[in-house]
Amino acid sequence: MNTLTELVVGSIIDGKEIRGNGRSTQEVQNPYNGEVIGKIECATKEDVEHAINTAESVFHETMKKMPAYQRSDILRKTADLLEVQAEEFIRILALEAGKPIREGRIEVDRAIQVLRFASEGAKNIYGEQIPLDSAIGGENQIGISKRYPVGVVVAITPFNFPLNLVLHKIAPALAAGNTVVLKPAEKTPLTVAMFYKLLEKAGLPKGALNIVMGPGSELGEFLITDSRVKKITFTGSGPVGWKIKEMAGTKKVTLELGSNAPNIIFNDANLDDCIPSLIKGGFTFAGQACVSVQRLYVQRDIFPLLVKRLVEETGKLQVGDPLESSTVIGPLISESEAIRAEAWIQEAVEQGAKVVIGGKRKNTLMEPTILVDVNHQMRVVCQEVFAPIMTVIPFDTEEEVINFANDSDYGLQAGVFTQDISRALRLADVLETGGVWINQTSLMRYDHIPYGGVKLSGTGKEGVKYAIEDMTELKFIGINLK
Ligand code: NAD
Repeated sequence: MNTLTELVVGSIIDGKEIRGNGRSTQEVQNPYNGEVIGKIECATKEDVEHAINTAESVFHETMKKMPAYQRSDILRKTADLLEVQAEEFIRILALEAGKPIREGRIEVDRAIQVLRFASEGAKNIYGEQIPLDSAIGGENQIGISKRYPVGVVVAITPFNFPLNLVLHKIAPALAAGNTVVLKPAEKTPLTVAMFYKLLEKAGLPKGALNIVMGPGSELGEFLITDSRVKKITFTGSGPVGWKIKEMAGTKKVTLELGSNAPNIIFNDANLDDCIPSLIKGGFTFAGQACVSVQRLYVQRDIFPLLVKRLVEETGKLQVGDPLESSTVIGPLISESEAIRAEAWIQEAVEQGAKVVIGGKRKNTLMEPTILVDVNHQMRVVCQEVFAPIMTVIPFDTEEEVINFANDSDYGLQAGVFTQDISRALRLADVLETGGVWINQTSLMRYDHIPYGGVKLSGTGKEGVKYAIEDMTELKFIGINLK
């Protein structure tokens, strides 16, 4: 394939880059200044077919026969190569996703860890010995269970973590001995194209990973309905995810979707610890994270103090060019997204909300914004805002705040700040989310924890070990010794 000096990328199928023959193209823009930084040549229906054919034959001929230590080696070598080339990846993340350098560095470091977890995971895919004589008549028989790769995995990924969320799918899939057809977000395809070279260099067989470039709205159906695909793993917006599940028929499906994460601050919380976490939780990557702090519930007696301190800290955040090392908040992915976020703020203000800081937009740059006097009917509260906007709501009692937090269609992660461990654990039990952090915000994620939502936030879990489980089938083998 071409190098990224050309910045034109096609699909990569069976180790070859597929370009030309009148394939349609789509520009990749730097969201900070609108400059065109590259182009993709979009896959056709026939290309998708070719990618699935290849993935299926490479699964049967190569990947399912490859010993675990080899799969593990490829992933470990890829991690080492990524470590060496980290700076190039940080730069491309800034250019195509508008990700500030400091956050790009975190994403690349996490991606290296995901590869290393997967390298270890490949060697730790265990089954069980089952005591058959627990059942009447089970004497003199042996039962074992073993995990087998499912086969062809389709992975569809969003723009906001163009490297790490791709790796949360392809690294466990390859660790388990599957093959993959990946459709990355069309707004951020360059990082993945560059990453493919590392896998190739680390020894991944051709056709074990195939990448189809282009809009999901056009390619999705071919990927999702093909009966040779055994598992679909999707991260992205809710409506798309649930439609995929409907179309997927009998295939296994994992959906990692959006949220409007609740974070609860009781009056005994250590504010010196929680204020920096909340700022990070609400404004990292300009709020474009599925677990961003969006609904902040604060016990009434500390409400004025907490809002004052949040405003002070928010005022210090530098908004601007993601390539500047001092920038904390870069652009939103597109101007239309920034216009939408601004309109949601305006709408909330018309319904009685007050902007205590921020609220304005210049092109794709949105000021970090804090809103008070909001209610649960406003879109900035009840829908996923996906922009640097935090809403702050006072509460009086534990019971009331549990009802507030659970009054949502979503349920990905929540944060609870209190010094009272009994109260924290009571909340952990009743909050309707896939994960709860105590004295940490909803934004927190380590790459080996079970991660995934309930309600409209999704189904299934990621986190390397859990994704490997989902990408394998457990088979029972019984042996009669009589
Ligand atoms: P998106 O749903 O617009 O796109 C995600 C991917 O789906 C892209 O590759 C896109 O091309 C593809 N797609 C679009 N329409 C499709 C269709 N009809 N069939 C198949 N594929 C299709 O999402 P986005 O704007 O790229 O990402 C933002 C969303 O992702 C937010 O809602 C965010 O919360 C969510 N997200 C969730 C997690 C999580 O782990 N839960 C992590 C990151 C992002």
